Amino acid sequence: MTPDDPTDDRTDPDGPADPRAWAFATRAIHAGQDPLATTGDVVVPIHQTSTYAQDGVGGLRQGYEYSRSANPTRTALETCLASLEGGAPGTGLAFASGLAAEDTVLRALCAPGDHVVLADDAYGGTYRLLSGVAQRWGLDHGTALLGDLDAVAAAVTDRTRLVWCETPTNPLLGVADIAGLAELAHASGALLVVDNTFASPSLQQPLSLGADVVVHSTTKYLGGHSDVVGGAVVARDPEVVERLRYHQNAMGAIPGPFDCWLVLRGAKTLDVRMDRHCDNAQVVADTLAEHPAVAQVLHPGRADHPGFDLARRQMRRPGGMVSVRLRGGEEAALRLCERTRLFTLAESLGGVESLIEHPARMTHASAAGSALEVPSDLVRLSVGIEAVEDLLVDLDRALT
Ligand SMILES: *Cc1c(COP(=O)(O)O)cnc(C)c1O
Repeated sequence: MTPDDPTDDRTDPDGPADPRAWAFATRAIHAGQDPLATTGDVVVPIHQTSTYAQDGVGGLRQGYEYSRSANPTRTALETCLASLEGGAPGTGLAFASGLAAEDTVLRALCAPGDHVVLADDAYGGTYRLLSGVAQRWGLDHGTALLGDLDAVAAAVTDRTRLVWCETPTNPLLGVADIAGLAELAHASGALLVVDNTFASPSLQQPLSLGADVVVHSTTKYLGGHSDVVGGAVVARDPEVVERLRYHQNAMGAIPGPFDCWLVLRGAKTLDVRMDRHCDNAQVVADTLAEHPAVAQVLHPGRADHPGFDLARRQMRRPGGMVSVRLRGGEEAALRLCERTRLFTLAESLGGVESLIEHPARMTHASAAGSALEVPSDLVRLSVGIEAVEDLLVDLDRALT
């Protein structure tokens, strides 16, 4: 049973105004979080309970029965996430991790014998899930060059159920044409899944561009403070949402109430954080492009980036991630990763603090030898929201 959206109160003349009319930054703070829906708590409480008292057998008080099926803190987060992605009330689901969300999408929407087209340059863990886990279960996949709609069309077979893309991509920051891919997927009866982790809903809302399912690792920008692992899905079609909810309850990949609360708190500041991430990343990208040790800067906010125009059309701003290729090859890339101080050498991204990593040896090691292998001279920066002048000094010192 799905509890109702407590903010969806349009029929009550004394209730709050239609939350869907609010701007993004307002929804990030208020959607799903009406104090009047509970005991007046201004902040949604952590409902640390596994079960709920019933008024007689089957007499659920507010639709809550058992916390694998639903929990009020999780409902608040799911309501907020659906609102931020522009989905209808009740179309958001929160998961234990990004990969738990992805696994549930694959098993809810595909069956053994089906086929998934994965745009290349995807997150290494997504590729591993398809090649190392789903493949054994009988779900086939093919990869295709993300920027080339003809190549993606050629990879689609009559068994293709999902076209799966990430944009911007990890770690090469390629930009996929969401509207073009949606049209292509729909023409062959498939659904388009967009991993919106890198952009976050503050910068890009794939459902509005024609995507059917949006997945997130909320571990990254949505959580925003590198203190929680979580995932999310928002889907357009209520039948798809129902299948996802059935599978989530049957498979059990749910987040705990405290983790939901952390993501909900992170989401409140998403919009302001993203603006600062974008400001800082643009300065870092433009400065590194002038550095003699740098061979190439990859950032969708630079006019020399192949996805520049597309990013301008489908994203509010180009994001906080910057990748660089170094003239000195792998050795120079590893040295840079080990010499920065403010940029912490670590996997993950999207937190307030700046991180640096070597994708070929770290986040994308599982893609080695595959079509998704990444160059060894590449370094990925998750540009945080520190003072940018300190970040520039740190990078310059580490490069010289
Ligand atoms: C981190 C990440 C994932 C996986 O999410 P987890 O929360 O680590 O399970 C999926 N997609 C992208 C783009 C990611 O960056």
